[in-house]
Amino acid sequence: MATFLSNPPAPDAKFGSALPWGNDQKGCEPLNPPQTAEALAMIIITRPDATEDQIEHIVSRIHDWGLRAEVSRGEMRVVIGVIGPEDKIREKPLGAFPGVESVTPVLKPYKLVSYEFRGTPSKVKIGNVVVGGKEVVLMAGPCSVENEDQIITIAQSIRKAGAKILRGGAFKPRTSPYSFQGLGKAGLQLLAEARREAGLPIITEVMDTKDLDLVSEYADCLQVGARNMQNFSLLREVGRTRLPVMLKRGMAASIKDLLMSAEYILSEGNFNVLLCERGIRTFETMTRNTLDLNAVPVLKAETHLPVVVDPTHGIGIRRFVPAMALAAVAAGADSIMIEVHNAPELAKSDGEQCLLPNEFADLVGRIRGVAEAIGREV
Ligand code: PEP
Ligand code: MN
Repeated sequence: MATFLSNPPAPDAKFGSALPWGNDQKGCEPLNPPQTAEALAMIIITRPDATEDQIEHIVSRIHDWGLRAEVSRGEMRVVIGVIGPEDKIREKPLGAFPGVESVTPVLKPYKLVSYEFRGTPSKVKIGNVVVGGKEVVLMAGPCSVENEDQIITIAQSIRKAGAKILRGGAFKPRTSPYSFQGLGKAGLQLLAEARREAGLPIITEVMDTKDLDLVSEYADCLQVGARNMQNFSLLREVGRTRLPVMLKRGMAASIKDLLMSAEYILSEGNFNVLLCERGIRTFETMTRNTLDLNAVPVLKAETHLPVVVDPTHGIGIRRFVPAMALAAVAAGADSIMIEVHNAPELAKSDGEQCLLPNEFADLVGRIRGVAEAIGREV
């Protein structure tokens, strides 16, 4: 498998210990992500026939200049990011090294998330599931974890239908302080039980830095929700873990804002980031949000990070969710997240927008058809 994205193992073993498959990012080439916020200023792309000696020579000269080098190995060529003060880097004759094909300054405000940084799409491993490859990965589950029977029943039905990742909120960001806020730690424990029962990795939201250690003990992927997209202290903290993070677009955030927020996470060393389009607020009132599918091809061009679409929150009305899920796959999403509940009328949150398990199973078949039509698979 060609993998381009990786991190060194978590510095603290706790991130792997509670999980059946750990979070060791097996199969990924080690990459040493930058540990400081210093800017990536230049990208060196080597020739396909560049030798190891030539690459080592470039890297050691960069170090001699007091700059840092990020080496990223693709199937065909090696990309070296040069990190340090832009003015100092600009005066170096980087194009003069043997083995160099091109040298490109990074002009965008987002550097590490930019497509140029890798020159190839990244893959992020959640448990044993890879997002960002040929497969369109389906994530499904209830908005909130409510009780043991609910989460296990749903986990088993979505796995049977073809979902690869179980979603469920234990810490819920609610508009009203009087609405159900999630079961907290008990919800995480139920998710862990559902993971054991169904054999699916889990994604769950972390709302606050104070809960990060706790949520990290259970989650295979951390969700940072729309309302927290610009909670910069939370972004920095999840950036210090090595857990996959799915960052949802804020409801009043531009695509560029989303990329800049992702840059916070990568700048702390965590490259295991997925971006999620979940709908934005517009003047439209007939849907909960406006699912901005424009964001999918734009993000795929601007960043190497995998793109997830959440059509459930994007439109917010059950009977319209399948159409937008199919459209998201056609637009090029790497993963689709769908809310599913076995008794929507009893759901403690978002009952009106979640699919029934049989509706989800039916949708998976149709998603497979669209995926295959565009050369992907489910
Ligand atoms: C959710 O996934 O249930 C959720 C709260 O999403 P968002 O942050 O996109 O509103
Ligand atoms: Mn929800």
